[in-house]
Amino acid sequence: MTNLERVREKMREKGISAILMTDMANIAWLTGFSGSFGFVLLSQDQARFLTDSRYTIQAGEQVKEMPVAWYQSPTTSDDFIASQIHEMGFKQLCFESAHVTYATFERLRDKLSGVELKGSEDIFSALRMIKTPDEIARVRSACGLADACFAHVSRLIMPGVTEWDVSMEIEFFIRRSGHALAFDVIAVSGENSARPHGHATEKKLEVGDFLTLDFGAKVDGYCSDITRTVVIGEATDRHREIYGQVLKAQLACLDAMKPGARAADIDALARAVFDEIGLAKYFGHGLGHGLGSLVHDAGRMNATSQDILEPGQIWTVEPGVYLPGFGGVRIEDDAVITETGIEILTHAPKGLMVLPG
Ligand code: ZN
Ligand code: ZN
Repeated sequence: MTNLERVREKMREKGISAILMTDMANIAWLTGFSGSFGFVLLSQDQARFLTDSRYTIQAGEQVKEMPVAWYQSPTTSDDFIASQIHEMGFKQLCFESAHVTYATFERLRDKLSGVELKGSEDIFSALRMIKTPDEIARVRSACGLADACFAHVSRLIMPGVTEWDVSMEIEFFIRRSGHALAFDVIAVSGENSARPHGHATEKKLEVGDFLTLDFGAKVDGYCSDITRTVVIGEATDRHREIYGQVLKAQLACLDAMKPGARAADIDALARAVFDEIGLAKYFGHGLGHGLGSLVHDAGRMNATSQDILEPGQIWTVEPGVYLPGFGGVRIEDDAVITETGIEILTHAPKGLMVLPG
């Protein structure tokens, strides 16, 4: 079944006769359009992609499953959307409640007399969690690029090099490969590595630092998200103990992931491993998240998650321990749920690495 067929099936299930899609992440997922501006009008027997003249050519190339309609100045987007809705003859129209602002709703309502406008619950997140083989292949490519990037940058890591140097080298490698960053590179060392989402600074790497690198590539619209932590110069017993426990937690979680498992239980497993040596209180964030066209795609692996693992989902698994004044360790891989367990998509080495090696 195509994603379009899956959306229509969900609309029937929820009694939604027609919908105006406005969330670009949902629109990109459904249509393949990678630009920044567009709308989709969809019912059981009609579908139309709307954009403006900046994207006429691109939409014509990328949007395969529905006709493209576009407008240009002096027409406004509100007038254009309203005219398309009238043309398609919708008497009732749902919109994405979690995405449309009240101001947009008011503007549309004023132009759509005779059309009943209704808010719709989010029908896309659950669908987007299950990836098609094509989507999985794109994430796999993005993971391959991240692995190659780590291999490249690990050769340059040594005392005296700055966090900023490392972060720029990662960015250059990915962009020079013709792809985009999935998000801003995190490259944090020493005490700075105790900030899970810290920013690279001009701080030089020093012997005894943990250096945490968290980055990802976006290939054909799909993301990878990997974290590796290395030690600079020389590892002490303390480095080995902390790193070893994070790796133990991560391996235990990956091992437990299979269809039917509860995301919250996998998260609890990591915390139990940290608890063995009193580190649980230093693990403040969730274990992982869904991964797809967005880095933080639908799906959460944390204590309050209701998500159940199913074949076709892609998850990050990223336990971490952050000790203020000392440093932090995080290890993150991406894995797709298969019929029997998981396939790990990131393959950069994760035994404790001391660099330069
Ligand atoms: Zn990450
Ligand atoms: Zn992540």
